[in-house]
Amino acid sequence: MPFSARNRATYLKTIERETYDLIVVGGGITGAGIALDAVTRGLKVCLVEKADFASGTSSRSTKLIHGGLRYLKQLEFGIVREVGQERAILYKNAPHIVLPERMLLPIIKGGSLGKRSTSLGLYVYDRLAGVEKEERRNMLTKEETLEKEPLLNQDILLGGGIYVEYRSDDARLVIEVLKTAAERGALSMNYIECQSFTHDNKGKINGALCKDIFTGKVYKIKAKKAINASGPWVDTLRKKDNSLKGKHLHLTKGIHIVVKKEKLPVKQAVYFDVQDGRMMFAIPRGNKVYIGTTDTNYTGSVDHPYATKEDVDYILSAANYMFPTANLSVDDAESSWAGLRPLIHEEGKSPSDLSRKDEIFISDSNLISIAGGKLTGYRKMAERSVNVVCKQLKLEEGYENNPCITDAIKLSGGNIDKSPEDYARDLQDDFKQFYLDDIIELVKKYGSNTEIILASAQTSFKNNLLLAEADYCIEYEMTNNASDFFIRRTGRLYFDRPKLNGNITEVDKYFNQQFGYSQEIISKNHMDFETEYEGAVSFRN
Ligand SMILES: Cc1cc2nc3c(=O)[nH]c(=O)nc-3n(C[C@H](O)[C@H](O)[C@H](O)COP(=O)(O)OP(=O)(O)OC[C@H]3O[C@@H](n4cnc5c(N)ncnc54)[C@H](O)[C@@H]3O)c2cc1C
Repeated sequence: MPFSARNRATYLKTIERETYDLIVVGGGITGAGIALDAVTRGLKVCLVEKADFASGTSSRSTKLIHGGLRYLKQLEFGIVREVGQERAILYKNAPHIVLPERMLLPIIKGGSLGKRSTSLGLYVYDRLAGVEKEERRNMLTKEETLEKEPLLNQDILLGGGIYVEYRSDDARLVIEVLKTAAERGALSMNYIECQSFTHDNKGKINGALCKDIFTGKVYKIKAKKAINASGPWVDTLRKKDNSLKGKHLHLTKGIHIVVKKEKLPVKQAVYFDVQDGRMMFAIPRGNKVYIGTTDTNYTGSVDHPYATKEDVDYILSAANYMFPTANLSVDDAESSWAGLRPLIHEEGKSPSDLSRKDEIFISDSNLISIAGGKLTGYRKMAERSVNVVCKQLKLEEGYENNPCITDAIKLSGGNIDKSPEDYARDLQDDFKQFYLDDIIELVKKYGSNTEIILASAQTSFKNNLLLAEADYCIEYEMTNNASDFFIRRTGRLYFDRPKLNGNITEVDKYFNQQFGYSQEIISKNHMDFETEYEGAVSFRN
């Protein structure tokens, strides 16, 4: 099944006509993983997402495929083991968007961990997470630590440890999973909102009423089973199902800020202590560094979380304490993003102490809701949810329960057998007219699919790489407008604003031409883009 925004009308006819084994509500990493798992077990799957794919929490994380070091502190050994193993699987299956990142852990006076406990903690972490020998922890003296990162606060530094994390691009991971699910027959659509569920005469869910956000038309989608994978909106849907009782969500907000690398020229990623006992990351990406995160209780609008001035000040103060010569001020924060963790409430626990474990709730009407969890653990979360569906289908109609096979499935773009840089060098032999840096940038987003973009730039776009990229995103990544393109598909709103500002008019025009949008839709798209842009670049109280 192609995953092209140009086929929207055809897909809408299909969803009205078919009966699905499973409807998945939510196109973040949880829903995407479930769609891929279910379709590879032979189920007929439809996924609906009310905005763009990954527009919820799954484009607003720290973008790490963690081994889960912080969970060690909370003695959640099971999580450390599982996410460590998952990390290795993801690296194998999506090597273009899961990149090893050596992380420096400074040990400081009054910090949460001393030299011995850090060494022991990283040792246990390496073993639990199944870290390869060459990537295991390395302990450093104060001098060695400063050599690795001269910007660290010398007055409080005692030493350090190096361990390996994996950096990813959360929104691109979602898209690659959805593309892979589509290749295998799943139908996933963005800008389709599940408004309510339909029921059979025993009160069990047998489908959903879903609204096309672009036209307002409501479609009845018939499905034997329904999974609610709507992240921070899980309880909103449970309420629609009249099943919000017992355990419920506890949303906490986390923000990140982006600064120019010249303002915080760290030589490498650092995971450092904050004076209140929390920990924070500073992670270089291209010519920027992003810093975060916060963890505060959240009761505001789920649709529009944003970074307040107070959030930004908290991050700046922590960063200035650890990197005193940087002297960062609010004017250095070029952009930010805010995300909501869909955690499960536990009485009396503070945001940082709440477990990140996932849980499945099954309602009387048989709505299967999954909440909690991490980007990193999405594949196992999907396996557990689809197991529930398969078990029910087996009981009800003798469905043959196929095992989960997603650990062995390469994600779209993942067919590269060398580093993205070397892969890009090989491509440049055939496409000499493009700069190597531009090709590397593409490979780190689209992996082995980069070749399609380069070829179409050459043949159809007079070597205009950006338009060829936009066209690829329309044709292969269900991208509907400039916001989808500049924010979720490419992250340029946060990491490459000059490219966005210099090209937004041309790209927007291309989208409008391709889809023949009415003036009404064009205006709505512009307004939505402005809102997201403003939300990223300005901080309110
Ligand atoms: C600040 C922060 C940092 C984090 N860092 C990391 C990290 O580094 N590594 C890691 O592994 N994890 C991290 N996480 C956790 C991780 O990001 C989340 O666990 C994960 O993204 C949740 O994905 P999800 O698909 O469940 O939710 P979401 O991504 O929010 O997806 C839910 C989707 O459902 C859609 N939806 C809602 N209602 C409807 C409806 N009625 N109809 C149709 N669609 C609907 C929404 O639009 C949304 O797109 C972080 C989280 C935060 C907040």
